[in-house]
Amino acid sequence: MSEIRLGILGGGQLGSMLSVAAKKLNIKTIIYSDDKNSPAQNFCDDFLFGDYMDKNKIYEFVNKVNIITYEFENIPYKTLNEINKSKTVNPKPSINRLIQHRLAEKDFINKLNIRTTRYVGIEKKSDLESLNDFLPGILKTTTMGYDGKGQYPIKSLDELNELNIDFSKEYILEKLVKLKKEISVIITRFAYNRYEIYEAIENIHENQILKRSKIPADISDKLIGQSREWSKQIAEELKYIGTLCVEFFIDRNDNLYVNEIAPRVHNSGHLTINAFNISQFENHIRAVCSLEQIPLKKLNNAEMTNLIGNQIIPYRQNKDLKDNEFFFDYLKKEIKDNRKMGHLTKIL
Ligand code: ADP
Ligand code: MG
Repeated sequence: MSEIRLGILGGGQLGSMLSVAAKKLNIKTIIYSDDKNSPAQNFCDDFLFGDYMDKNKIYEFVNKVNIITYEFENIPYKTLNEINKSKTVNPKPSINRLIQHRLAEKDFINKLNIRTTRYVGIEKKSDLESLNDFLPGILKTTTMGYDGKGQYPIKSLDELNELNIDFSKEYILEKLVKLKKEISVIITRFAYNRYEIYEAIENIHENQILKRSKIPADISDKLIGQSREWSKQIAEELKYIGTLCVEFFIDRNDNLYVNEIAPRVHNSGHLTINAFNISQFENHIRAVCSLEQIPLKKLNNAEMTNLIGNQIIPYRQNKDLKDNEFFFDYLKKEIKDNRKMGHLTKIL
């Protein structure tokens, strides 16, 4: 292949950072998004705006590229599958379909004998009876949720009944884990038994949104080993190509649970840009474009803080950062509450 033109579905900050990493590798990026204000258009080589179900627009996109990936889970399976008939899509569309549905995702993880929180699917009103075993819990829509959207913490059955749930959607009720810590493991799988795995990252959430990530994670060697093994097992079972993130819970008794899988680069891995020789973004591109796999080397400990809503303002005004600080502005047009606007990574 002489020139690689990488198509990316989704145009948020993950698409921007993938584009920056691609440029370093002399790969052109063409981004497709259903948001005409998509921030990634500031970083990619070419940008197409259209609905993810618009066959003609998607066709135009597919004709411009030779490999396709995505930075956002909620792309319709039908679209990914259609595209995959003419150009390679990685990770495979079937993986995305599995993971974008919280119930299918958890069933898959449990089949591998990997622990998840206890859960039950809720499709109709009568399913709400005798759920005491799952309370206190969190009710989540099975699809389309992110950054805590579509989630309701529930303490009692009465509360659940009062919620007036819209049963045109499907839900999952998960038992609340008494959290001691949350961690994530980012892994890039290149081929059968060929991986690069980043060390476990410790994550702090506020209002169900990631606030801070740091390495090293302050957890036992046993948990480090177990989270690494489970992540490898998941990536291998999926025959995954590219970067994947496994989010974990650790409860007060040091039990490890898989919370969810993200079939893409992940917010907790932004610190890999400054803390490793190869970032999660570059490794994703290397894997999906079949480029050389380079052994991962850690350069520094690091801590990343998300700048949410107005928190970006002082950083936009004050450019004098310390030598160990790296500020990323996602260049989103509008500041909104709970919207990730940028981040700051400190190397330690
Ligand atoms: P999203 O897809 O929005 O990232 P998650 O399922 O990862 O959704 O939930 C976001 C955050 O909410 C988690 O990282 C965790 O802090 C909290 N949370 C979600 N489910 C549970 C649970 N069952 N027990 C404890 N905390 C939870
Ligand atoms: Mg999550």
